[in-house]
Amino acid sequence: MLTLQKTAVLASLMAVLVLPASCSKEKQSATESSDAPELSAAEPEPTLAWQDRLNLVLYQAELPTEIMQNLETITEKSPFMQELAVILSGDPYLRLLVDKQHALPTQYEPDDLVELSGGAYRVSRKGLILRKAAADALQVMAQAAAADNVILVASSTYRSYAYQAQVYARNVRELGEAAANRESSRPGHSQHQTGLVVDFGSIDDSFAQTDAGMWMQAHASRFGWSLSFPDGYESVTGYRWESWHYRYLGTDLCRFIDTYFEGIQQYALRFIYEWELLNTKIKH
Ligand SMILES: [Zn+2]
Repeated sequence: MLTLQKTAVLASLMAVLVLPASCSKEKQSATESSDAPELSAAEPEPTLAWQDRLNLVLYQAELPTEIMQNLETITEKSPFMQELAVILSGDPYLRLLVDKQHALPTQYEPDDLVELSGGAYRVSRKGLILRKAAADALQVMAQAAAADNVILVASSTYRSYAYQAQVYARNVRELGEAAANRESSRPGHSQHQTGLVVDFGSIDDSFAQTDAGMWMQAHASRFGWSLSFPDGYESVTGYRWESWHYRYLGTDLCRFIDTYFEGIQQYALRFIYEWELLNTKIKH
C-alpha cells in the first residue's frame, strides 16, 4: 500500500497537473503589472521525473496492493518498460480500455471485419464477423484445441453500436436493469463492438465445465486471448464471471498481463490507459 507520505506527494503532483488554464493567466497578468523582470509569455508545461510519473499512474490505476508493490520497483530500464513499449507501438484498439466508465469512440466500427469461415472451429450461425487479426488468431488457437480433441464453437462476435442497443434493451426488459448491468453493456461500452471478442459455446455458466471451457481457461492467453470477466472480480471489471467471453489482445499483451497483472486484463488495460493519459498530458 502507498504510504501516507507518498500519497501526499502524489496529491500535490496531481494538483500541479490539473492547474486550470485560468490560473496560469492570472499569474501571467500579475507578473505583467509588477516591476518584475520580463518573463516569457508561455508558462512552462509541468514536468515530472520518470519515477514520479510511474507512481502517479500506479496511484490512478487503482491496482491491488501486491501488484502495485511489485511495479513500484521497476525502473526506466526494466524489461517491463521494453514490453510496454512494444505494446504501445501496436494496434491501439488491442489495448483500448472499454468498460462501464470508458466507451469506444462514438459509432466506432472496425474497417477490417471478416466473416468467420469455420475450419478448425465451428460457428453457431452464419454471418459471425471479427476483425481480421482476431479471426486469424482464432483459427490458430482452434487448431491447437483440435489437436487436443477439443472443438471450439464461436457463438457471438462483433456487435455494432445499434445491435448492442437492442441487446441491452432486451436484457433490461427480461432481467430488470440491475441484473442486466451485471452481464450486459450499454451501447458504446461493449467489448464486442471492438470486433475482437468471441463468446464461446453456450454463452452461459455451463461453458466453464465443458472441455472447451477448461481448455480455454488453461491455454487461451498463449494464443493472445484473454478472459475479460474472471470469477471473483465483479467489483473490478463491473461484470459477473463470464467464462465464455474472451477478448483478443495479442500474445504480447497477454504475456504482459500474466507476468505483471496476475492475469487480470482489467488491471493491465487500466494501467496502460492511465499511462497513456498521463504521458500525453505532460511534457517530460
Ligand atoms: Zn460477450
